[in-house]
Amino acid sequence: MAGNFNPLHYGDVRSFDHQRQFASDNNAGCCPEVFEALKQANSGHTVGYGSDAITARAKEAFRGLFETDCETFFVFNGTAANSLAIGSFCSPHHSVLCHEHSHVESDECNAPGFLNQGLRIATVQGANGKIDLASLREGLSGRRDVHASKPRVVSLTNTTELGTLYRPNEIGALAELAKSNGLAVHVDGARFANAVASAGCTPAELSWKAGVDVLVFGGTKNGLAFGEAVVFFKRQEAADFMYRMKQSGQLASKMRFLAAQWLGLLSDGKWLEYARHANAMSERLYSRLSQIAEVELLFPREGNAVFALIPDPVIDRLYELGWRFYTDVGPGGGARLMCSWDTTQEDVDRFTQDLRKALS
Ligand SMILES: *Cc1c(COP(=O)(O)O)cnc(C)c1O
Repeated sequence: MAGNFNPLHYGDVRSFDHQRQFASDNNAGCCPEVFEALKQANSGHTVGYGSDAITARAKEAFRGLFETDCETFFVFNGTAANSLAIGSFCSPHHSVLCHEHSHVESDECNAPGFLNQGLRIATVQGANGKIDLASLREGLSGRRDVHASKPRVVSLTNTTELGTLYRPNEIGALAELAKSNGLAVHVDGARFANAVASAGCTPAELSWKAGVDVLVFGGTKNGLAFGEAVVFFKRQEAADFMYRMKQSGQLASKMRFLAAQWLGLLSDGKWLEYARHANAMSERLYSRLSQIAEVELLFPREGNAVFALIPDPVIDRLYELGWRFYTDVGPGGGARLMCSWDTTQEDVDRFTQDLRKALS
């Protein structure tokens, strides 16, 4: 079965050849609305570092979207967004609790610890990439005296690294436990749009109404060229964030181009349309693969990811046929197949046909 790191599956840029793939939703380009917004923002001079009118409009757009007086900042990438957001609540003796299979733990090169000196990452568990209430309780009930770091933030990923979803009531229960222990709630929403689309609720219901204090709303995987939004739901907790951005090299001088992209994505509900589309493509893929006996599907499909155990020789054959995807993400050794805002039904059907061909 698949699951071992195979260097041949990485960095083969020749054969990527700008074909759409299922390797990652960050391999897609940016959507036309974002490209247009960038073009429109590209006129004349304006003041830098976020004091411009475009950035003000984008911040206002987030207030509208979340139906509350939130404070939003635009940074380059998710690793920095998570690290800076978490660190806003932390001193050097604090720890952040996150799932053992979370990006914060496994995919950020300990940037949270680097950007917030002394901060410790502590892991908790739960099935399908979701933190279990009992495990969080256990994580909170260890040594609480001065000899251990003090839990200060719980970090949830929605949708999770395994493509599953926390619903508002599940976030609410975890947040309630966290708050009763003095912790803040951070959400890594690299795929928050996919989560909202899947939950069928409002952005507010999946964030501050459920007890979230700070949300990283992922733009890159939703259709931006680059950029993530850090949304604080209590303004006073955002007071020093610009200093943290500047100090860590995340304060863009030409901020208007980060902000303008959001205006393009948030207008006419495009963000949700694209997320629904990506989710629908993964549903189609999941359903096609479920009809193939040799393929075992691994986790509940709730966002835009499908995890599938595919026999090794078939994976090799799919690579020969030009397909690219990762086989080393998360537990279980499955192939991770990510759908994007621009994945088409034909992409899904061609992949499935090639898989059947590879099996025969
Ligand atoms: C992609 C992703 C991020 C952001 O990663 P960067 O490469 O730092 O932008 C954060 N969290 C999750 C779960 C992701 O999938």
